[in-house]
Amino acid sequence: MPKNPAVSAKHAEPSVKLSTRGVARLQVRHPWVYRSDIVAPNDTPAGALVRVRDERGKFLGTALYSSSSQIAIRMISHGSVSDLPALVAERIRAAIAYRKELVRNTDAYRVVFSEADFLPGLIVDRYNDVISVQILTQAMDAAPVREAVLQTLREELQPAGIVERVEARIRELEQLPPLPSRLLWGEKSSAVISMNGGKMNGDETSGVRFHYDGLEGQKTGAFLDQRENYAAAAEYAHGEALDAFCYQGGFALHLAAKCSSVTGVDSSRPALEMAEKNALLNGRELEWIEANAFDLLREYSAANRRYDTIVLDPPAFAKTKRDLEKALGGYKELNLRVMKMLRPGGILVTCSCSFHVSAQDFLEMVADAARDAHKSLRVVENRGAAKDHPILLNVPETSYLQCLILSVSN
Ligand code: SAH
Repeated sequence: MPKNPAVSAKHAEPSVKLSTRGVARLQVRHPWVYRSDIVAPNDTPAGALVRVRDERGKFLGTALYSSSSQIAIRMISHGSVSDLPALVAERIRAAIAYRKELVRNTDAYRVVFSEADFLPGLIVDRYNDVISVQILTQAMDAAPVREAVLQTLREELQPAGIVERVEARIRELEQLPPLPSRLLWGEKSSAVISMNGGKMNGDETSGVRFHYDGLEGQKTGAFLDQRENYAAAAEYAHGEALDAFCYQGGFALHLAAKCSSVTGVDSSRPALEMAEKNALLNGRELEWIEANAFDLLREYSAANRRYDTIVLDPPAFAKTKRDLEKALGGYKELNLRVMKMLRPGGILVTCSCSFHVSAQDFLEMVADAARDAHKSLRVVENRGAAKDHPILLNVPETSYLQCLILSVSN
């Protein structure tokens, strides 16, 4: 195997041929082709840049090849590509320019979102002056590509540190050698971030601040995709509030500006410890409860506890399509219970981050729960991820987050 597949590929120009079904996938502008849709045996090297052809040999574009993933082909261009690191640098600059147009009032946002920014397998988040990078495919792991990523981010964003967050399971699936999460460049791996400052309900606000530690926490360390939903939830929140599955307090701390009391519930102690630090950072007093939210809600509802605002942001219940029915059952149980706990005029902010639960499935589940709860609910807002997590049409995988804001009547 060549040492640097991404570079040597441009000399060798390996190509793969697709079946009619594979070609059809590309025609709807979906960038993925599965291994089963590649025809003819191929000994394409791991992570190579490949020319993609139909069965007759007609050129269809250029892709990144994975020798181990079921997604063998990820298209990177509908034309020829001679220099992958240069193309990656150009796409990163374009992703940064796109954010400059759309992202407001925050120093923390997603800079590059993989397929949605035409950079399959690369995720970059910015947390003030610390940048976090995730590399999810063989091609993006090649040394010249990594070098181009680092150099472009340093030039364009002038960070004080760049960390790599590693998902061990994904490296294993891609048959890449294990790596620890670590500082890749510079000296800083933690920062204080601030989001949703500026005008809120007509008042000038300084924004809500959070500690970010690039080498700790879940996912990339924060749930940036909910950033705009935090502000939207705070617009309607009032009275006594409960944030179930609160993690480090994203919704809870935004609600605190509007509510008389806020309780955050999570099963993770480290997440709640960080949530309390975040509360101190913002000069707020909130109640944090370490508990299984299912159990706690059952208990509170049995005790006739009532709230004016409830947020439900559970982890993804449907990890695969097969889990869908069960997942919808789990979501429904939670939603039904909290609908009954909300006072008239109360606000329910309910989310799902399961890609397999479509917007339609989610809305139907909530409607079903409302019927069973004997409540009428109005949809105040039907939202998704923040604009720095773009949805690419025809690539349903880029649309995974649902966030409904509902007003509960009797
Ligand atoms: N709302 C958060 C993100 C929530 S992620 C934010 O905006 O930052 C989901 C959270 O659910 C995680 O913090 C996880 O620790 C927590 N969690 C998972 N299962 C749980 C359970 N059964 N009860 C309570 N919390 C749970």
